[in-house]
Amino acid sequence: MRRKKRTWKRSGRLNKHHIKNKCRGGGNEPENIILLDTERHKAFHFLFGNMSFAEAAQLLLRVNTLKRATG
Ligand SMILES: [Zn+2]
Repeated sequence: MRRKKRTWKRSGRLNKHHIKNKCRGGGNEPENIILLDTERHKAFHFLFGNMSFAEAAQLLLRVNTLKRATG
C-alpha cells in the first residue's frame, strides 16, 4: 500500500515576521523583517513564542541531545 504523502496546505498569504521581536527592541527596518507564509508564521510563534530563530534552533538541539541521552 502506498503511503499517503503528507502535505501542508498553504494559503499563499505572507506575513511580516520580525527577526528580533518588537518587544525585545526589534524595529520595522527591512533587515529585521522576513516574509513567512501565514501558516508557518503561526506555527513558529505557537511553538517558540517570541524566541529568535537562533534561540529556537538551540532549543531544538538541546531537546535532540536529551532525547539521545535518555534513549
Ligand atoms: Zn512573527
